Amino acid sequence: MPSPRSSHKDTALVLLDIHLPDISGLDLMEWITNFTTSTRVIMVSADANIDSAIRALRGGAVEYIRKPYDLEEMQLKVDNALHRSRLERCNALMTARLEFSERMHRFLVENSPDLIYTLDANGCFMFINGRVESLLGYSCDELIGCKYTSIVYEEDISIAHWAFSERRRDNRAMANVEVRLKDKNSLHLFKPRLIVTTVSAIGVYDEECGSNDPLARRFLGTYGVAQDITERKKAEETISFQALHDHLTHLPNRSLFKDRLEHSLSQAKRNGGVIGVLFIDLDRFKLVNDSYGHAEGDDLLMNVAQRLRNCVRAGDTLARQGGDEFTVLLPDLYGPEGASIIAGKILDILKTPFQVRGQEFRITASIGIALYPQDGNSADVLLKNADIAMYEVKASGKNDYLCFTDKMNVCHHERISLENELRQAINCSEFELHYQPQISIGGDRIVGLEALIRWQHPTHGLLGPASFIDMAEESGLVCNITDWVLAEACGQMAKWRERGLVDLRISVNVSPLEFERSDFVERIKCNLARFQLPANCLELEITENLLLNDDSSIIDKMRQLHNQGVRISIDDFGTRYSSLNYLRKFPISSIKIDQSFVRELVEGVHVSPILHAILGIAQGFGLHLVAEGVETPFQMKTLSELGCDEMQGYLFSKPIPGVKVEEVLMNPFSIHRTTPVFLRDSLITLKSIGLDT
Ligand code: C2E
Ligand code: MG
Ligand code: MG
Repeated sequence: MPSPRSSHKDTALVLLDIHLPDISGLDLMEWITNFTTSTRVIMVSADANIDSAIRALRGGAVEYIRKPYDLEEMQLKVDNALHRSRLERCNALMTARLEFSERMHRFLVENSPDLIYTLDANGCFMFINGRVESLLGYSCDELIGCKYTSIVYEEDISIAHWAFSERRRDNRAMANVEVRLKDKNSLHLFKPRLIVTTVSAIGVYDEECGSNDPLARRFLGTYGVAQDITERKKAEETISFQALHDHLTHLPNRSLFKDRLEHSLSQAKRNGGVIGVLFIDLDRFKLVNDSYGHAEGDDLLMNVAQRLRNCVRAGDTLARQGGDEFTVLLPDLYGPEGASIIAGKILDILKTPFQVRGQEFRITASIGIALYPQDGNSADVLLKNADIAMYEVKASGKNDYLCFTDKMNVCHHERISLENELRQAINCSEFELHYQPQISIGGDRIVGLEALIRWQHPTHGLLGPASFIDMAEESGLVCNITDWVLAEACGQMAKWRERGLVDLRISVNVSPLEFERSDFVERIKCNLARFQLPANCLELEITENLLLNDDSSIIDKMRQLHNQGVRISIDDFGTRYSSLNYLRKFPISSIKIDQSFVRELVEGVHVSPILHAILGIAQGFGLHLVAEGVETPFQMKTLSELGCDEMQGYLFSKPIPGVKVEEVLMNPFSIHRTTPVFLRDSLITLKSIGLDT
């Protein structure tokens, strides 16, 4: 039998007689229906037997027409069969489309990155997509029939009530409501993991109740979507945290502090409260950074921040203003003294040394206090006045706290103008050097001179370094000053040498910042060459801080200087750090015992064990020793007996201008014409106590 595919595929209707000449109509129908589902068959027959009709209809015929037939009847049945066939085809097409659409939607729902759910009228899950397993760790089956609250974080249940089981379905329906859901796998933890979602939902109503009145329709439940926004939320939180917090210490930053201060001020203005603002600045922190490096500086700052946190209560705000500056807001003080108590507590808590990267650091702070209402009624003024009070502490010796007073304002302005004047002082040649002799007791003569800077200020008169060196260090101007001091001191030395005074050395104080400069060694060498000085007549006085630095470039610079013959001496020895390890690492020539130890030498009091230790160290390391600040014959005698031969102090001479030094050095008899506290007296004293032998 030929393939029916091409010829029969589009045939809508076949009229078949049961009795055909060489084939049965029923067999032919079976053959047709086997090959095509769309071709309809109407069986026509003269057979009066009812069985033939039944067999035809069972075999798949849509109609059975007995011959002879009425043409109209035939026409009607053909029309009906064709109409039904068309309807069935449409139906099949629609069913296929529906199936496809359902498959597609099921795919979309199951693969959605969002949670998709339906709730019944009681808020119980009727459906939830598979995303719930990866997102919250629940299987779909275990949630079906459970109330939506079983996955909602307890604190969010009231807000979730409106979002999850929304009844409205117009544009008033809830959209993007933030609800936190619980992760099943972390429920046993003290702090379960929470998934932040935004939920949008609409109510579902019975459309078939026939009523046009929306209120009369039966509420069936809710259809909703929950989108996971945890990562976005975290990113947003990080961004807003970073905008308002300091990245190193994670403390509130300047803008958050100001915001909180303003907020507290408006409250205090209503309730008549007292507010305290503390401005904290770590003393000489720049030196830590310069000497140790910024990594250590940062670690130390984090440690300091942690300690400061322990000094404030939950409602107070500790902030980092930047660098080594911190501020504290005390929003509800009982009285002004409350702020001083906290400031005292902060100074106390800093007393214990810090251990950072295996090193011990001692940190002190200067704290200024401003109070609302007496010291200002805006955030800016309070902060400014606390800052001014802090500067006052710095100027009067650091490591203390002070409350703002109106008088400080005046001093502050003076200080600011002093800083500006300092910048000009270098160009205007307002500096001069005074020299303080260093005496060898055994040799009974001046062996060295320490160059000490003075500033001939146009209005304030002669200023000592205490009033401007710190400021110069903080502003970086100190390097220009050192350049001037070095050239001036070396020039002076050259003049003395020309006059035959070749047995002297000159000491110059250098700031640790100098060693940061890459051309430091070069500049020293230039000065020596320019004034034709032998390197061993120059001594550089440095402070201990510098030696705590493992920075190889600093050690390298010192070695280069040492190899040239330049002497390096440690000033104020014994006052800064306890570790003496550096004495082995650095090429040190001598140490200067700090005045504070010399001052303790009074008759009737035992010599401090520290002094004994210092003398032992100098001997042990083969270091030259100079005692500073010798003021009394007793001090001189004791130091001499302890084995310290070289001394410097008011007992022998105050620092004096170069011309006067020259007078003394050139003409021993001139001693008699100089001031009473001058060398003459000391040398006489030397004789009188029998040390001049
Ligand atoms: P220093 O290097 O320890 O200098 C000794 C200080 O003690 C000097 O103060 C000196 O006048 C004072 N002094 C000396 N003998 C006695 C005494 O018997 N009793 C008392 N009470 N004081 C005595 P000055 O000149 O005010 O210098 C203070 C500090 O300023 C110096 O301490 C030094 O660290 C720094 N300095 C001075 N000149 C320079 C400089 O050119 N550059 C740098 N970077 N710092 C300098
Ligand atoms: Mg010195
Ligand atoms: Mg000193």
